[in-house]
Amino acid sequence: MMSRLAKRKAPRVLPGSLITLRRKCGKPSCRCAAGDPHESPALSYSVAGRTKMLTLRPEEVEEVAQAVARYRKSVNDLAAEAQVELDELVARVRATRASDRR
Ligand SMILES: [Zn+2]
Repeated sequence: MMSRLAKRKAPRVLPGSLITLRRKCGKPSCRCAAGDPHESPALSYSVAGRTKMLTLRPEEVEEVAQAVARYRKSVNDLAAEAQVELDELVARVRATRASDRR
């Protein structure tokens, strides 16, 4: 993981979603105390059912966004393929059982 980051190899697929974190830093004199929170892009993802946040640098956002989009498309494509396979299996098994009953 570290070596991939060090080489700055863009990720191909990433789970999760890009979000904007808004927070107050706690300094009473800061603009965020007056209702203008600090914003930073982050990747929200889930590990063993727990949501985690990875704060991103601005230059990382585009490649992360693309990898998240590729992951979503791959998952959707796989789900669609699996549904077709399931439909075919159900039809085949039912046809076999119907012919067995004759
Ligand atoms: Zn602040």
